[in-house]
Amino acid sequence: MKFATVEIAGHSGLAIEDGEELRGLTADVDSFPGPLVNLLLGGTDALAEAHRVLAAAPVLDPGTVTFRPPLARPPKILCVGANYLDHIAEMGHTKPDYPTVFARFAHTLVGHRQPLVRPRASTHFDYEGELAVIIGRRGRHVPRDRALQVVAGYSVFNDATLRDYQRKTPQWTLGKNFDSTGGFGPWLVTADALPPGAAGLKLETRLNGRTVQSSSTGEIVFDVPTLIATLSEVLTLEPGDVIITGTPAGVGAARTPPLWMTAGDLCEITIEGIGTLANPVVDEAA
Ligand code: ZN
Repeated sequence: MKFATVEIAGHSGLAIEDGEELRGLTADVDSFPGPLVNLLLGGTDALAEAHRVLAAAPVLDPGTVTFRPPLARPPKILCVGANYLDHIAEMGHTKPDYPTVFARFAHTLVGHRQPLVRPRASTHFDYEGELAVIIGRRGRHVPRDRALQVVAGYSVFNDATLRDYQRKTPQWTLGKNFDSTGGFGPWLVTADALPPGAAGLKLETRLNGRTVQSSSTGEIVFDVPTLIATLSEVLTLEPGDVIITGTPAGVGAARTPPLWMTAGDLCEITIEGIGTLANPVVDEAA
């Protein structure tokens, strides 16, 4: 099942992909099954029932649909750095024994086709195509062999980064948290539609149509079950939490000369079986 959080004529709504078409309902309609965050709290049955309702909903005119992040305000957005060997090498890091985890906050999120904003403070605006894991069940101390039971589904994320700010201090938080720098969506694809842990899926990032990252989610150092087991030793994972699993080689910072995103660019990230996230780039307003 593939769900998207959308907005139509000022109303928030929920859509599904039905073949080549989008079907959906907005929150002002009685039969609206609820926002995705509520459905996650209701579990697999709530998602299946919502899908059944939406499959009978009107076909949407794509021109009227604005995609929003699948979840507007995840309780936690936990990002993993240095999680592909080829990216670790190109950035001059060494293979870690323990995942490098940093936080993003919800003010950074933008939906599919919404602009990523290059801030006034920096021109070093880099793309990072990544697999996003969306948590569906609460879990603390989740063993690795049961970790996938807490996953609702997967999405695509652009962990766009201001490299000079990332490197100003040992903490990456500021370089990863400028307003409107986290592309997220368009789809939440339920876990049952993908291989376990969404492993082995082709991941490709294109900047203005040129392929700049080409890898597989199978190249991840700390895989999805390991990340869930490791993180849940520390904290309770909750429905709606998002884990961003790291990016492969090919980022702009590792190129000679560096390749930064600028206004007018289009960055697209495709993960096999999950979909394509496309975001134009604009400059922060003067
Ligand atoms: Zn990243």
